[in-house]
Amino acid sequence: MSDDLFLKIIQREIDADIVYETDELLAFRDINPQAPTHILIIPKEHIRTLDDLQADHAGLVGRMVLAAAEIAREQGLAQDGYRLVVNCREAGGQMVYHIHLHLLGGRQMTWPPG
Ligand code: IMP
Repeated sequence: MSDDLFLKIIQREIDADIVYETDELLAFRDINPQAPTHILIIPKEHIRTLDDLQADHAGLVGRMVLAAAEIAREQGLAQDGYRLVVNCREAGGQMVYHIHLHLLGGRQMTWPPG
């Protein structure tokens, strides 16, 4: 889909600082980081939003979360802790319509989020 920015990153049409890749997942640094470490974990399959997930995506979503935890350990975030976020559609603050996990760490997080 031509409006899918993250598909362009998957296809290497747009540069990204890639930190992790498997056959089905890609992770790269957010271009506008909200924490000292801010990485996005995405499936290579085009899925627009959290609400578009189907039952047969359960394994994929599980592997996304496990990949985030692995990356967090690699980035030295595991001991102090970190945050995973998924924004869904407009009220959730979603800007890019290709599902992604935000991995944020390296500072004290606050609650409630903005
Ligand atoms: P959302 O608001 O949950 O959809 O998050 C989209 C994220 O993608 C934002 O944190 C943006 O800073 C990030 N982003 C947008 N364009 C790029 C890019 O080209 N490379 C890396 N991150 C991007």
